[in-house]
Amino acid sequence: MEAWRRILADSIVKPKDLADRLGLDVKEIEAIVGDYPMRITPTVMATMKEKGDPIWKQVVPDIAEMEDFEAEADPLEEDLMSPVPHLVHRYPDRVLLMVTNQCPIYCRFCTRKRLVGKPGFLKKGELDQAIAYLREHSEVRDVILSGGDPLLLPDHLLERILKALRTIPHLELIRLGSRVPGTLPERITAELCAIVKKYHPVYMNLHFNHPDELTPEVKTACGMLADAGIPLGAQTVLLKGVNDDPDIMKRLMHQLLLARIKPYYLYQADLTKGTNHFRTTVETGLNIIKSLQGHTSGMAVPHFVIDAPGGGGKIPLLPGDYMVHLDAAGVLLKNYENKAFHYPQPPLESARELPMVSAVPSLGSCGNGKLDDL
Ligand SMILES: *Cc1c(COP(=O)(O)O)cnc(C)c1O
Ligand code: SF4
Repeated sequence: MEAWRRILADSIVKPKDLADRLGLDVKEIEAIVGDYPMRITPTVMATMKEKGDPIWKQVVPDIAEMEDFEAEADPLEEDLMSPVPHLVHRYPDRVLLMVTNQCPIYCRFCTRKRLVGKPGFLKKGELDQAIAYLREHSEVRDVILSGGDPLLLPDHLLERILKALRTIPHLELIRLGSRVPGTLPERITAELCAIVKKYHPVYMNLHFNHPDELTPEVKTACGMLADAGIPLGAQTVLLKGVNDDPDIMKRLMHQLLLARIKPYYLYQADLTKGTNHFRTTVETGLNIIKSLQGHTSGMAVPHFVIDAPGGGGKIPLLPGDYMVHLDAAGVLLKNYENKAFHYPQPPLESARELPMVSAVPSLGSCGNGKLDDL
């Protein structure tokens, strides 16, 4: 058995083991993991410092998960947008393909809480069905391997998938979403890197939510991926009590860049059943973006997005006060220090040529929101 498999097998999955280690009520944990499985890798156990800290909150089952009665299991309507099993085709030119439902840890806030860690996910022939769908759909140029966590697949299976995808001429990009480098760094082996390298361009978006997750071992694992020529991005979920704070978020973004990872998305938490105790206000995220933009490297600023309930896809949000007013003459701007600046438009070729009105947000701070005075 490969070393990382043994280490994964040393993870905590049984309520009694967790209760013994952390001094918790075993009955309560049992009541939760029946519906929502638990797994905590040795790396994550070692990173946890005290009860209720940001690492703990992400992985230790909380009875609040069971008290979330109203919410939906699949608010992004992924199941409704699946033409074949495990493939979500929401956007015109790219798809998401869930190749496993196993993860190194089961994040308590997971959007796919309805699926992850449960028995019997991928049935025989389903992967072939997904590949056949991609082959037939020449509009798809970008495929995202997700799950679950694709890096938990054994090397030979991952390679089989990558190889099959690369037989499809119109597929340009292969992306892979993973929490493995941050939670099971031992899985990032020279063999894995050598496999991925053969199928470039392969991008990886790694899941990180707190600066403490970037331990020296984790940074080394990320460095191996970067050395294999894989551009690394990060996806972060805004979580109450974990990272809903500008200073923590700035430290996280700086640690990511040090690990050669470019922050990509900061997600507003989804409405998924069993996770609503993690939600923050939208303003919390906007304030975090304001605290980063201009105040530190632009490389450290992710896109803040809401994945719209009902399957609308990711919608970017920017603090509303950068653009104070836009008309045919110019745009009135406020910078990160709240100082005002004016940028004049080029002269209109015809006096009646109208600018793209749709580019104007609902001009909250400039009053009437009309463009009558052009
Ligand atoms: C997030 C997502 C994508 C990729 O979106 P990008 O903005 O291109 O990163 C594609 N399909 C689905 C279903 C998604 O949720
Ligand atoms: S690693 Fe990702 S898919 Fe797996 S439980 Fe965490 S958030 Fe969900």
